[in-house]
Amino acid sequence: MSLVVVGSVAFDTIETPFGKTNKILGGAGTYISLASSYFADNPKVISVVGRDFPGKYIRLLQKHNIDTEGLQIKGSGKTFFWKGIYHADMNSRDTIATELNVLEDFDPVIPESYQNTKFLMLGNLSPVVQRRVIERLKKRPKLIAMDTMNFWMDTCLEDLLKTISLVDVLIINDGEARRLSGEYSLVKASKKILSMGPKRLIIKKGEHGALLFDKKQVFFAPALPLEDIFDPTGAGDTFAGGFIGYLAKDGDISFDNMKRAVIYGSAMASFCVEKFGTERLVNLSQKEINKRVLNFIDLVQFNCRLADLF
Ligand code: AMP
Repeated sequence: MSLVVVGSVAFDTIETPFGKTNKILGGAGTYISLASSYFADNPKVISVVGRDFPGKYIRLLQKHNIDTEGLQIKGSGKTFFWKGIYHADMNSRDTIATELNVLEDFDPVIPESYQNTKFLMLGNLSPVVQRRVIERLKKRPKLIAMDTMNFWMDTCLEDLLKTISLVDVLIINDGEARRLSGEYSLVKASKKILSMGPKRLIIKKGEHGALLFDKKQVFFAPALPLEDIFDPTGAGDTFAGGFIGYLAKDGDISFDNMKRAVIYGSAMASFCVEKFGTERLVNLSQKEINKRVLNFIDLVQFNCRLADLF
């Protein structure tokens, strides 16, 4: 089923304890659409870049069967730039630079061929821009998912709450869930956030996995314990891309299928961190993905001894 992805397409400079990069391809929209492309048929991206954005990156997206008609190229501006440095534990990072450039006054344009999409994934952007996309779609998609971050809670909470009230699935990390709800317990946080509008909530906990909530149920997916973690940039976006791409594959949005989608999202994120930037994401085979999903099944499967229970 059709999928539209909205999010930054960017230049990133990344420094981790294992090395550093020059300006490489990054951005939430890039990670989401690349990850989703392994499941969804012809995902469509909406974003903006500047005149400095190399054609080879656009061709790379197209090679992954990503529709770039909605990727605006602003002749008069520069592409969004982000630089981050990771601490030794790789769990925390400092943002050294955020140059919005063409993203500053981004006005999303929705090509006619993107209308009637069944799935919409709103990557982390201003909630006003995210809402504008929803409003500019002539028909409400079957499922709208959205990511956000603390920055928007601090600077435009009212707008953020308005946008959150319009979506079906909110995907945030544990710190953001606590900030948004004012609750430390993630169970209490989920109740409060689900009362804001979304039917489902995913709380990502980095190397400790992810939780999927609706009003009645909760599901937990671990993160795969990995020997080598090279660069966590984009892992959250890659998770979201794998999740929404898997759902868009056949359109089943039941809680049970969302559990599977959370595992596929986690599997994609586990690849993302193994190399710098998008390097690992651009050369995956279906066989590798399947093998990794089987690793997840092995990781959580165990048998109860009936004698212990009765
Ligand atoms: P993550 O590691 O999941 O937080 O995502 C990192 C990606 O988000 C990088 O590729 C950045 O280019 C992008 N990014 C960082 N800050 C912003 C921002 N304020 N708006 C949009 N994208 C951003």
